Amino acid sequence: LRGRAAFRRLEGDEHGGKGAHGMPGFELNGKNALVTGGARGIGKAIVAAFLEAGANVVIGDRDEETGTATAAELGAGFVRLDVTDSASLDAAVAHVAAELGSLDVHVNNAGTVINKPAVDTTDEEWRRVLSINLDGVFFGCRAAAKRMLAQDSGGSIVNIGSMSGHIANHPQPQASYNASKAGVIHLTKSLAAEWARGGVRVNSISPGYVGTELTKQGMSNEDWKKTWLESTPMGRVAEPSEIAPAAVFLASGASSYFTGSDLVVDGGYTVW
Ligand code: NAD
Repeated sequence: LRGRAAFRRLEGDEHGGKGAHGMPGFELNGKNALVTGGARGIGKAIVAAFLEAGANVVIGDRDEETGTATAAELGAGFVRLDVTDSASLDAAVAHVAAELGSLDVHVNNAGTVINKPAVDTTDEEWRRVLSINLDGVFFGCRAAAKRMLAQDSGGSIVNIGSMSGHIANHPQPQASYNASKAGVIHLTKSLAAEWARGGVRVNSISPGYVGTELTKQGMSNEDWKKTWLESTPMGRVAEPSEIAPAAVFLASGASSYFTGSDLVVDGGYTVW
């Protein structure tokens, strides 16, 4: 773990974990969270929002350079991990729990995409996408749940799916990505059912197009960009910070009766 001294530790909560009017609050005061792929993009925005909500946050990423820089910038911790390696996720969860005392929130956000016609997709490319986007989410859920089921306070797991788990994007071909994200959404429901009585909630978020490194290549293709914007009722892509509030909600007590849900945050893309 890096930057532990920089963790923002907020002691106590003037509303005892409730909002001002007794409603379960949206705050994360004193919660300990791990966010995979938190070095940049949507993950970084989630880390920033969690810190803002009062959590102690550790970024888990395979990109050590960007991860440590982001951790220093935001006031988070950093642990190197590769989500395709279940042992590294187990170790990261163990480190966070040992350093901070618990793991209350875990976000499986790391992901990748390959835009290629299915007939040209190699075995290796198919495996790479599925191993990061689906194996990685399963390994992260399992590692986090083992810890959360063993603690009285339970926990909340948030998986980043995609609108591509609901629809097949156009015009770009990306069957491996779409299949992986559909898998994330259904895995979320399956694990939610298994762990609900153990006090562990599992939900997913399905973003539409968001301006990050992942979509940079697509946005530089004028034809793709035009179709993407025309296909989105709101007529624009999201900022990463527009996805993060959904993660704060699902991580917090405000979503106490949510489990197995998927929150679509897509500017209306899946409506048409
Ligand atoms: P990004 O490429 O900007 O960031 C991904 C992060 O994950 C990077 O920090 C990267 O180092 C890390 N990462 C990748 N593989 C890893 C691995 N094996 N182990 C550990 N870390 C790894 O992407 P983003 O757009 O911020 O995407 C974040 C998540 O949101 C992904 O799951 C993605 O599929 C999903 N998503 C993105 C969009 C979009 O339009 N950008 C839309 C829907 C869903």
